[in-house]
Amino acid sequence: MSNLQLIRPLVHKLHAYVPGEQPKIKGLIKLNTNENPYPPSPRVLAAVKAAVDGRLRLYPNPTSEKLREKLAKLHGCKAENIIVGNGSDEVLALATRAFTEPEQKAESRKQKAKATVQYFTPSYSLYPVLADIHGAAKNAVPLKPDFSLPGISELKRGRQWNFGAALTFITTPNAPSGRGYKTSELEKLCRAQKGVVVLDEAYVDFASENALKLALKYPHVLVARTFSKAYSLCFQRVGYYVGHAELIAALDKLRDSYNVNGLGQIAAAATLDDLKFYRANFKKIIATRERLSRELTKLGFRVLPSQTNFILVKPPLFPAKEWLQKLRDKKILVRWFSAPEVRDYLRITIGTPAEAAALVKVVRGILPVPFSN
Ligand SMILES: *Cc1c(COP(=O)(O)O)cnc(C)c1O
Repeated sequence: MSNLQLIRPLVHKLHAYVPGEQPKIKGLIKLNTNENPYPPSPRVLAAVKAAVDGRLRLYPNPTSEKLREKLAKLHGCKAENIIVGNGSDEVLALATRAFTEPEQKAESRKQKAKATVQYFTPSYSLYPVLADIHGAAKNAVPLKPDFSLPGISELKRGRQWNFGAALTFITTPNAPSGRGYKTSELEKLCRAQKGVVVLDEAYVDFASENALKLALKYPHVLVARTFSKAYSLCFQRVGYYVGHAELIAALDKLRDSYNVNGLGQIAAAATLDDLKFYRANFKKIIATRERLSRELTKLGFRVLPSQTNFILVKPPLFPAKEWLQKLRDKKILVRWFSAPEVRDYLRITIGTPAEAAALVKVVRGILPVPFSN
């Protein structure tokens, strides 16, 4: 007898999220998961080290209280407007559980809407997995070919957009294209939406505007932020939502009691005491992004404008998937996605200036002579 029958069919059939590779290859230049190339501030490292002692036997603060208070001060709201998670991935997952019904219960159109998780494609590939885990219906709405957002009237005409979806995720700036969106455009989408809208601002510190004010203005809008990318803390897993107190309280009921580990809370709180350090890093990364974009453009790459710490590029001469392997052979790891809208592109994380220079050098070596200068 097989023990597979013990597993719920939904789980048995589930295609789990596939994270970017974390290979241990000596000398590898890792530009595949949008990690920050700069380490956390010395004050953050000192705070974490100082906390590693016998107190590890104690439970951490269950509600990340100090961190929420600091975040509230930063964002001009109250601690009741903030929930912290084990990475923003956790708070994204909490939203599917708090706001969408599992699909089996959906009979009428209205019920169907209440069981629908909606998102644009391409965007963060975790959203459909979260819907599947919950047994919710998925509504994937294509972005325009240049990765811009369709307007409300286009969405109405196209009929793909479900205005009553229980939950809509919008990655802004978009990943994997790097394209930034205007707060005014996002506001129109939010206003037209009856369900909860999550604006996933994982990369917003590298952009020219953010939409935080929408979370403070509209009772159905949440903004998700993370310490992972801009604040060099992927390892610690800290992310959060800003939003209306009632939505936050609902999410809070569902989370694990000690969802954010103590060292993560300490690291994130210390980060907020040293924002100057990080703002200098954002400037460096943005400067490297612009420089690398110019250099790859000169070498025949089509580089999409980016408001993030990565660029999406269409490489010349060989298919993108071949470029992935050619670069890997030279110890440079970038990301390639098989989805049809992006399969002709590579996504390249912005590293240090030295890493960018190494990439350009390797690219020159791969290109045949007439193209490489
Ligand atoms: C990386 C990423 C996240 C997840 O961040 P964590 O806080 O590390 O869980 C969420 N959304 C998008 C779009 C991301 O790229």
